[in-house]
Amino acid sequence: MSESARPLTSPSEMRPVVLCFSGLDPSGGAGLQADIESIGQSGAHAAIACTALTIQDSQRVHSFEAVSPAMVRQQAMAVLNDLPVRALKSGMLGSVESALELLELRQRHAGLPYVCDPVLVANSGGSLGNPAQLLPVFHQLMQVATLITPNSIELRALAGCDDLSLGLERLFELGAQAILLKTAHEANPARIEHRLLIQGTLAYSSYWPRLPGEYHGSGCSLASAIAGRLACGLDLLHAVQQAELWVHQSLRRADIPHAKGQRMPVRFVTSDSAAFRQ
Ligand code: PLP
Repeated sequence: MSESARPLTSPSEMRPVVLCFSGLDPSGGAGLQADIESIGQSGAHAAIACTALTIQDSQRVHSFEAVSPAMVRQQAMAVLNDLPVRALKSGMLGSVESALELLELRQRHAGLPYVCDPVLVANSGGSLGNPAQLLPVFHQLMQVATLITPNSIELRALAGCDDLSLGLERLFELGAQAILLKTAHEANPARIEHRLLIQGTLAYSSYWPRLPGEYHGSGCSLASAIAGRLACGLDLLHAVQQAELWVHQSLRRADIPHAKGQRMPVRFVTSDSAAFRQ
């Protein structure tokens, strides 16, 4: 058979697929667009089960509407029945019912790496779900996730305590497998710490200079960049290390829409955009 006549759907010819459960951010900085761009850049292919439509701009979340759990399940099944899914990733879940669909699906695909970004609020502070309802489901998802990627606000909410080290301990007691903690929201002016703990033990920590301004979709980009690398076969430690470096570069290049807007990570650099920046 000639090259061009090969069936395009042959699994051996398709990049590994990450099935993402995430919401639409029309500004394009966060949510499913961040997943598509970050996972595409990692060498994998992103397929999306859309959990919610949000109304937001670069400054704030105005509102959101959850997609029905049945639609979320059917989107996921369409992908799982058709594409070579090699990893799962979740961000904004839209509703408890959709989160429970994901939990059930995860149990049927327990062998896949799964990165859970326990999204409750946007970087701008806007609500992306009801914490009282979502926290119990995040506790369940955390137990079946390869990695959870909370920022310090999410860690405190999940653990129900203020001290970050105690909070990490508590989440391992509650059954977490691995946690990547990000401290960009802490009031440390000089640098940001990331801590990766696997089965309760510190595997790696890294320190990043605090870049100026606020960033839209940095958490989504990091979680999906890790998921993309896991889908491509990297182990957890190397996936996290590579993804962190890559996200840092995309934040350094971020676009500033206007003086009041959060910066948008530049996840792809084309020759045209490079020219625009000169
Ligand atoms: N998911 C969606 C749909 C969002 O709109 C946002 C933030 O705006 C997030 C997730 C979380 O974004 P971040 O990566 O900034 O934490």
